[in-house]
Amino acid sequence: MSEVLDFEIVVKKIETSKLSDVDFDDLKFGAIFSDYMVDVDFEEGKWNDPVIRPYQNLILSPACSALHYGQAIFEGMKAYKTVDGKVALFRPEKNAARFNLSAARMSMPEISEEMFLESLKKLVSLEKDWVPSNEGHSLYLRPYMFANDPFIGVRTSQNYKFIIFCSPVGKYYGKKIRVKVAEQYVRAVKGGTGFAKAAGNYAATLYPALQVAKDGFDQILWTDAYEHKYVQEIGTMNFFTIIDGVAYTAPPDGQILEGVTRESVMTLLKDRGIEVVERPITIDEIVEAYDNGKLEDAFGTGTAASVAPIAEINYKSKSLIIDENKSIAESIKQELDDIKYGKIEDRHNWMVIVD
Ligand SMILES: *Cc1c(COP(=O)(O)O)cnc(C)c1O
Repeated sequence: MSEVLDFEIVVKKIETSKLSDVDFDDLKFGAIFSDYMVDVDFEEGKWNDPVIRPYQNLILSPACSALHYGQAIFEGMKAYKTVDGKVALFRPEKNAARFNLSAARMSMPEISEEMFLESLKKLVSLEKDWVPSNEGHSLYLRPYMFANDPFIGVRTSQNYKFIIFCSPVGKYYGKKIRVKVAEQYVRAVKGGTGFAKAAGNYAATLYPALQVAKDGFDQILWTDAYEHKYVQEIGTMNFFTIIDGVAYTAPPDGQILEGVTRESVMTLLKDRGIEVVERPITIDEIVEAYDNGKLEDAFGTGTAASVAPIAEINYKSKSLIIDENKSIAESIKQELDDIKYGKIEDRHNWMVIVD
């Protein structure tokens, strides 16, 4: 590393790698962890030097504040093995910046983008051999932070832990997804925490997700908290619909998590000459477009699945079936993935190669 950092990354070596125990042809999503983790403590008003040490369990006080009051945030990103054998990250600076947006909302300390990115890159460079080379596979990276005061009482904590660990993963969804429009439960409200990757946001969606899973749906298409009318996003993905040649996605109004994939897909759509409109769009408009034969596509975007084509949107007792022949979700997914795996030119300079 050429530039001078105001911290030093300490590496504590493993004795033996677990790599040979892993069956890369049968990866379960999120269940296998690599050899190392980044571990940084925030104490007395500042971040200590990052330590990269063998992946191991944490020792916490039972009073650990995050476990009680939920001051906890995370990021999700991936390292890809490119066709020429390099390891690359996709727009990691966006995740570093969003992490600090989440931190600010949850009254947690920011971490310099430099510390976030340099410790991430160092970790990935140590774990190069863990980045799968199978088609569509990658090394999922999970940076997160939680309050770590041994104290019960609702207040902003003084101690925090920042961790990054890695998990080799296969493809997320094998098939097109079926979503059900939310009519009862809510994910985000104006003034709430919906725009932050805050742990509690996800806990609150588990029960509603189980209810729709009983009817065979993969995800909930969330709607606004006031009228259940404006569509927001799906599970952990942003939502796009294409009506009469124009792409629509919800605006960043504090009620959606602004995905890195969302922004990238907006760029790829515009590159194809497709108009992209960020505005509140109602489920009624989507139903009307469907009835008039103008609903051309609907899909989700997020790091885990990249682009997830939607087969069906269910609203009340009506099923909107997306016509495969009009859908461009697969081809947008292909283009985005081809950029990530270095198969086509990275014309927007999104990829960051890890040495
Ligand atoms: C992480 C996330 C997304 C997708 O963000 P990406 O940066 O594209 O991975 C969308 N919605 C929610 C609620 C999320 O948590």
